[in-house]
Amino acid sequence: MILHDFNLGRLQTMACASVAQHAAPVRSLADLEQALAWASEHDQPVRILGQGSNVLAAEQVDGLTLINELSGLQALAWDEDSVTVAVGSGINWHWWVRFSSAQGWYGLENLALIPGTVGAAPVQNIGAYGVEVESFIEHLEAVSLHSGEMRQFARAECAFSYRDSVFKHAEAGRWFITQVVFRLPRRFRPVLTYGPLQRLVQPTPRQLIEQVCSVRLEKLPQPRAVPNAGSFFTNPMVTSSHAAALQERHPDLPMFRSADGRTKLAAGWLIDQAGWKGWRDPDSGVGTWHQQALVIINPQRRPRSDVLAVAGRIQDDIEQRFGVRLEREPRLFG
Ligand SMILES: Cc1cc2nc3c(=O)[nH]c(=O)nc-3n(C[C@H](O)[C@H](O)[C@H](O)COP(=O)(O)OP(=O)(O)OC[C@H]3O[C@@H](n4cnc5c(N)ncnc54)[C@H](O)[C@@H]3O)c2cc1C
Repeated sequence: MILHDFNLGRLQTMACASVAQHAAPVRSLADLEQALAWASEHDQPVRILGQGSNVLAAEQVDGLTLINELSGLQALAWDEDSVTVAVGSGINWHWWVRFSSAQGWYGLENLALIPGTVGAAPVQNIGAYGVEVESFIEHLEAVSLHSGEMRQFARAECAFSYRDSVFKHAEAGRWFITQVVFRLPRRFRPVLTYGPLQRLVQPTPRQLIEQVCSVRLEKLPQPRAVPNAGSFFTNPMVTSSHAAALQERHPDLPMFRSADGRTKLAAGWLIDQAGWKGWRDPDSGVGTWHQQALVIINPQRRPRSDVLAVAGRIQDDIEQRFGVRLEREPRLFG
């Protein structure tokens, strides 16, 4: 089913005014095949939308937007230690976290309440509170947007790193991820290294999920009430010599050693220190959230250009003050 002049305003959490030239819901592999055949016949570019929580949509999105609603769940194998489950990529991420943990398949608890679909999780290797999804992905399946061919990507082929994967680089815009195959441990080993989780003592999986949810609800605006796309900038990675120079000038700057020898800086701290926390542009109302400077909000549902204008001002200011260019996390859509 191909829809025309389809309103995307409510299908992305930043709520930018946006209309797709053509759109198609994808509820089965047959839907996907038909939609791709239509796009090829009409020579239209193809884009994929999950639940729109990590995109900034253009006012006019040309070509065909595929709206992922693929469902399905299948346990493929299990032994004493782990279970291997294939999960349809259109399934809601938070639902999957709660469901898997309730079955006794553990590991995803710290990633509770991250908005979006299962299929988008590997695209930016979602992470929160000391856990990244890559640790639990065995492989994924994807359909080529150009040839319709089905391909498996083993975890190593996904080139996961901090908020990153091959689907943002060499394979960007080429594949529709149709299912993600997780391997989850059957023994619960909670990761409690992050501040507000440290106070938990031998939590049950359910208590851990509840704690993660309550920390998130306290800190982050809910997109339905206040449109946003979560963290707008990734934490910048700098060389250790750059980090040492910064620390000399700003002894309180939080920084973390990364496995590759570089240092990760807290982008929220930089924005906060520069005085942007809670700031709003008087004309567009676009600004930063008063409890978390890393989140840009769009309460008046303004077009993407207004959001990018504010983001650009923040990037320029941080670069001038700290010599670090912040990188945008949400992806441009159209
Ligand atoms: C309030 C809030 C809090 C957030 N907190 C976190 C957090 O703690 N950690 C974190 O990592 N992220 C966080 N995010 C970002 C976001 O939730 C994740 O990136 C999520 O995985 C996006 O899922 P989605 O279905 O909404 O993807 P979309 O926004 O619809 O799409 C994102 C990108 O992935 C592509 N894509 C989507 N589905 C597929 C598919 N099936 N195949 C191929 N490409 C696809 C799209 O084309 C687009 O480029 C947060 C966002 C919000 C609004």
